[in-house]
Parts: sequence; C-alpha cells; structure tokens
Amino acid sequence: MSTISMPDPDKAILARAPDIVAALRAALPADAVLADPAETCAYECDALTAYRCPPLAVVLPRTTAEVAIALRICHQHGVPVIPRGAGTSLAGGALPTADSIVIGTMRLRDFLEIDTANRFIRVQTGVTNLSVSAELEPHGFFYAPDPSSQLACTIAGNIAMNSGGAHCLKYGVTTNNLMGVRMVLVTGDIVDVGGPEFGMAGLDLLGLICGSEGQLAIVTEATLRIVPKPEGARPMLIGFDSAEVAGECVARIIRSGLLPVAIEYMDDVCLRAVESFAKAGYPDCAAVLIVEVEGAEAEITDQIERIRSIAAELKPVEFRSSRNAGEALAIWKGRKAAFGAMGRLGDYLCLDGTVPVSKLPYTLKRIGELSQQCGLEVANVFHAGDGNMHPLILFNANAPGELERAEAFGNDILRLCVDVGGCLSGEHGIGIEKRDLMTKQFAEDDLAIQMEIKDAFDPTWLLNPAKVFPLEMSRRHCDRRAASR
Ligand SMILES: Cc1cc2nc3c(=O)[nH]c(=O)nc-3n(C[C@H](O)[C@H](O)[C@H](O)COP(=O)(O)OP(=O)(O)OC[C@H]3O[C@@H](n4cnc5c(N)ncnc54)[C@H](O)[C@@H]3O)c2cc1C
Repeated sequence: MSTISMPDPDKAILARAPDIVAALRAALPADAVLADPAETCAYECDALTAYRCPPLAVVLPRTTAEVAIALRICHQHGVPVIPRGAGTSLAGGALPTADSIVIGTMRLRDFLEIDTANRFIRVQTGVTNLSVSAELEPHGFFYAPDPSSQLACTIAGNIAMNSGGAHCLKYGVTTNNLMGVRMVLVTGDIVDVGGPEFGMAGLDLLGLICGSEGQLAIVTEATLRIVPKPEGARPMLIGFDSAEVAGECVARIIRSGLLPVAIEYMDDVCLRAVESFAKAGYPDCAAVLIVEVEGAEAEITDQIERIRSIAAELKPVEFRSSRNAGEALAIWKGRKAAFGAMGRLGDYLCLDGTVPVSKLPYTLKRIGELSQQCGLEVANVFHAGDGNMHPLILFNANAPGELERAEAFGNDILRLCVDVGGCLSGEHGIGIEKRDLMTKQFAEDDLAIQMEIKDAFDPTWLLNPAKVFPLEMSRRHCDRRAASR
C-alpha cells in the first residue's frame, strides 16, 4: 500500500498502443524505440522505488531532431510523455503512467563547445554532471553544482530539478549556473532560450525552464557557466555534543559574513552508520560539521582561524582542519559515503526541504520530537550552509503500514519546514512525492498562475502528468479548460 495516488490509464490510448509504437518505429532508428515489457520495465521507476509503473513504450533518441520527431508523434496521438534523464530523482519525477511514452535523453551525450575566455561549456543534456567537470579539468575549470548523485545524474535532470550539492553554498544551484538551453516543445518545435551572452533580453524564460520538472518542454542542449578551479581548498571537521549547538554554529558562521564553499551536517545516527561503513575516523558525538573554505593560502588560513574562533565559543568536542590532500580526503570520505552507509541500515525515505539557517537549531529539535512521537528513527545529513535539510526516515518496507507511517512523518517534517519560513524542496523537486503538499506552500491562486504557465507551453497537459501540481486541483483545472474550448 502507498499513499500517493496516480491517475488511471486512458483505455483508448492503451487500445491504440500498437499503432502509436508503429508510428514511432517508422520515424526513428530501429534501436530508438523499446516496447517489449522485458525492456520497458527498466524504466518503471526512478530512485523513489516505492512507486513503479511500466510505460507503454520508451524512446531513446540521439539528437534534438529525433526528440522533436518523437514528441510530434506523441502529440498527434495525444499520448502523455515522461521526460527522463538517468532516473535518479528521489521525488518520483520520472515515474511513468501505464499510458505514457518515456522519452529518455541519456543518449544525447556530446560535448559541443568549451569557451574558457567567455566562461561557458555547451553540452547535450544526456551527459552526466560529473563528466562535465572531468571534461573541463584540463582547462583548469569546473562546473560548480555537484549533486551527490553526480556520477550518474544527467544535466537534463539537474536542469529539470534545479539541482544543488555540497558546493552550492558559494556558487549557487543549477539556476545560478545555467546560461541557455535548446528545448523541444510538446508540438515538436525546437526553441532556443538564453545562450553564452551575459544577461537576457525579454522575459526570463530560462528561469521558468530551470526547475520545471519536465512540465514545459524537453531540454536537449545546455550552455553552462564554468568556474576557474580555486588555488586551494581545505575542509575542517567540527564535532559537537548537541545537534542544536551544531545548528547554532552553522547560523553563526553564516551571520559572520564568511562564505565557505560548503557546510555539511551529519548527526549521530548518520555518524554511526558512516563509521561502521567507511571508517572515516569521525568523532563519536551528537553532530559533525564539515566546513570547506577555498582561495589562496593566506585567505584559507584566515578563514579557518575565524571559523575556529566562532566554533570555540560553542565548545566543540573536536576541531580538526586538514593540512594536506590526504587529510582533506579523509574528512570528506564519510560524508561522501553517507547515503550508501544509510542504505545498509535498511529502507529509508530521503526528504528534501529548506529552512532559514537561523531556524536550524529549532527545526532539528522539532524533528527529534516528531521522530519520538511516531516511533521511526530519523538521520540528518544535509547541506547546512544554505538550510537545505535531508532528513532520512528509517523504516521497514516489509512491515505492513510502515511506508505510510514514514510518508506521514515526512509530510509533517516538510510542513514544519514551510511553517518556519522554508520551502518544500531545496534541490530534489516536487515530483509525485510532494505534489499534494503544494497547497501548504502556495495559495490556490498562486498555483492557478503556475498551471496557466503550463497551459501556455503544454495546452493539453501531455508532459509529465500527475507531477508537481495537486492531482485533484490539476484535474479541475484541465476540466475547466476543456469546457471553455
Ligand atoms: C543517492 C542520491 C543522491 C542524490 N543527491 C542529490 C544532491 O546532492 N542534490 C540534488 O539536487 N539531487 C540529488 N539527488 C536527486 C537526483 O539525482 C537529482 O534530482 C538529479 O538532478 C536527477 O537527474 P536525472 O538525470 O537522474 O533525472 P531523472 O531522475 O531522470 O529526472 C528528473 C526530472 O527531470 C525531468 N527530466 C529528465 N530529463 C529531462 C529533459 N531532457 N527535459 C526536461 N525534463 C527532463 C524528469 O521528467 C523528472 O521530472 C540524489 C539522488 C540519489 C539517488
């Protein structure tokens, strides 16, 4: 049993499935269309694996033109389309419906242009996040947004979810590093928005596309801002015997005006899991912060000393700053392994919400209280510097009712984030997971405007159905639109 409902498939589309697949096969290369259930089942879910549904077919184009052909055919047949990158979304953003066609952009893997003088790289959006920085390495540059999933996730998914990562405190998330896109509208028309030039004439459509979760178009190319590699970088580890005091330390560092590249937080549940898995040598305490600063050596030393004195006021149980590359790696080792280590403890729901940094101590305390009340353990490992929390709720998927309890607990935590002035998503998006909580964050009129923007791009709501907008509200919206036509 699960608590998130999906719409029933359209029987008329299912009945026409052979014709639709035949039309796609006639127009695209032979290996671009998968309709055998043994192959399409690989696309039945993303990283929110509690929810699964094989699509009617999968299309894997290699060019923007092929994406346009596939979309045009789906549009002509009135078939829902699920855009997909690597399928690492934790919010069910790439979950298919039984009457939908998945269009995956992971085969669009070309690096098109590197221009260090004008500080951009142009790529097809099926390249992985990590491969962009690898491509830039010989030029002394890198691409800043660094999701923990960067080995697998694609630039397409990053743009759709406005992804972030540990180093986004200083450099910003995807939207702050995206300069332009080439995208295909539901009708198959190809549109360019933005580009390598700074600034943009006209409406900021790029701002709309970034974070639109596959609701508006399929993005096939991207121009990304690139950053020169810093002269040096050094992490430090600060241990505290209280979660709230660790949260207070984050708030004080930010309030001081310092801007570290990263401030990451791990609580005791996470630390225990990480130690038995990665043996990173972390202290046995209530919470650890990893703070990384960068720049020239004198600048680094100055920042470390200022952070040391801020932390000292809060009496840390340990303060360790790295002196060389080996020690830096050791400090990051456990944090990088945290999600894998948590997986060894059992099933978990990975939440994603933001809170104002000054509210971190209170929010951490309340999450602890809520965990006690509902009887499910929670681990906190997150990007603390920008208040982007990732509570991991531990549960047993085989125990009847525990998934539902974990989801209800997760919803309480996300409501708490909104109540303290934060937001339902820092970087994972809304997907199906938080769709029905959108009314907690937005008034009906606000959501109506967002749905009208979708109307403008996708008038018949074929792109990524049942995501982002509360199901009942979007049904009423589409019924009203259909009636007024
Ligand atoms: C272990 C783990 C750690 C993670 N850590 C982070 C993290 O640190 N930061 C973070 O931000 N996220 C993180 N994530 C979540 C996930 O990796 C990101 O949301 C990522 O950007 C998804 O990319 P993807 O290529 O897998 O996209 P998918 O999962 O395939 O799709 C994600 C969304 O993008 C849409 N989409 C895909 N391709 C296109 C396209 N071409 N055009 C338009 N829309 C498209 C889909 O419809 C869907 O809504 C993590 C996930 C896992 C499993």
